[in-house]
Amino acid sequence: MVEGLIIDGQRVNASDGQTFDVYDPSSGEVLASVAKATKADITRAVQSAHAALASKAWGGILPAERGRIMLRIAQAIRDRAEELATLESRDTGKPLRQARADVQVASRYFEFFGGAADKIMGHTIPLGPEFLDYTVREPIGVSAQIVPWNYPIQIGARGVAPALAAGCAVVLKPSSEAPMTALRLGEIALACGLPPGVLNVVPGTGSEAGVALASDPDINQLTFTGSVEVGIAVAKMAADNVVPVVMELGGKSPNVVFADADLDLTVQGVANAIFQNAGQTCSAGSRLLVERKAHDALVERLAARARAMRVGPGVSDPDMGPIISKRQLETIERYVQIGKGEGAEIAAGGERPSGASLGRGFYYAPTLLDRVAPDMRVAQEEIFGPVLAILTFDDLEEAVALANRSQYGLVAGVWTRDINKAMAVSSRIKAGQVYINTYGAGGGVELPFGGYKKSGYGREKGLESLVSYTQVKNVCVKFVAV
Ligand code: NAD
Repeated sequence: MVEGLIIDGQRVNASDGQTFDVYDPSSGEVLASVAKATKADITRAVQSAHAALASKAWGGILPAERGRIMLRIAQAIRDRAEELATLESRDTGKPLRQARADVQVASRYFEFFGGAADKIMGHTIPLGPEFLDYTVREPIGVSAQIVPWNYPIQIGARGVAPALAAGCAVVLKPSSEAPMTALRLGEIALACGLPPGVLNVVPGTGSEAGVALASDPDINQLTFTGSVEVGIAVAKMAADNVVPVVMELGGKSPNVVFADADLDLTVQGVANAIFQNAGQTCSAGSRLLVERKAHDALVERLAARARAMRVGPGVSDPDMGPIISKRQLETIERYVQIGKGEGAEIAAGGERPSGASLGRGFYYAPTLLDRVAPDMRVAQEEIFGPVLAILTFDDLEEAVALANRSQYGLVAGVWTRDINKAMAVSSRIKAGQVYINTYGAGGGVELPFGGYKKSGYGREKGLESLVSYTQVKNVCVKFVAV
């Protein structure tokens, strides 16, 4: 059976009838056959979104009612949590408990932003007794959203929920590597009373569906989450139509560990920051910067932990699942070779694990690359796999300099018992989020998230993200005071 696109409230085949196969990375087997959106399908989806905006059912809806529909979606996601988590785990390979957490976070986005739908307010601006000046935050219109394969339901919900809260309509293009839960989200939204056309879901390739959506002259806003390279291309396409863009791109985020840090806490935080989702996380803590005198103890503990991790099929709920595809697995292998060639030492992993349960899946062992120098490619480039680059520093100055020696600036972690040191580093690090003695905070639904430097611009998550989905209209009224 073919999983159809969702356009204007209907499940439909692609206009030319073409499909693509989606693979289970845990086994390399085909999971589903999905309709492959064409340019004509994208055009239809964008037009149906405009029709929804012009309709009474969505354009004329009370903000509180918009919020109620979103709260129903949040509940429906929770009601179907196990089914969605299993599907996400099979589609992406992530361990089941992590997929479960992702589904809960997706639900939280609808809950959080559903509650905000009737609280999107403007200002009054004082101009004196004969004027009333006020601002209105109107929905920006049709939001095009292009998302990656690593956290499909979470990242899908992260963009869709604030857009709906603001009163926009959305065309969502999931990655062809992992489109399944985005389609379920579209179905759930319809079943919860979201009018047809408000959320269209159009899986397809980047080169056809992605390009068609990014260059569509009738979109009003674009949220892109993916690689820097594709992000630049997408931003240029949007610029041709003067369409504003939110860019959520890659990272090479540092965990800065001082010798006075709580070692147990740090080992757990640093390991989780790199090995969660097999390192395929934009905000992965993929650089460890450790004070020289703590290096040996920390690396020893991390290596023991990495070696003890159980790698296996996502649905068997291992500590770490497979890599999304053979291509991505080969990229990781190539980077580890590059690192070794540059002089890095393998402190754990560095190879494909073996084992009967791994079958023909795309697995890589949790890997520590030690003795990494700041300008090595493995210290600078995003590997997007379970590979931690370990560097050392001698003092706070050097730690800050190393942390900032990157084209990226998405997230940073600081580990120390000294609050003064923590505050000094956090104020000097160039990153969109800084965590002190933790890394991440659940899904971080409430916290503005986005990049400095090449990690992107604009913010998702938190109330901050509503800015992207509204435009400000200033109304100035002149009257005569009587
Ligand atoms: P990608 O850039 O290859 O693809 C992302 C999306 O863009 C997919 O839906 C893809 O089909 C589409 N696409 C590809 N080429 C396109 C084109 N020419 N025009 C329009 N769309 C196109 O990224 P990926 O491999 O799916 O994901 C990994 C990357 O995403 C990493 O760099 C990672 O850091 C980044 N990422 C960032 C965040 C964040 O929030 N900052 C979150 C997750 C992933």
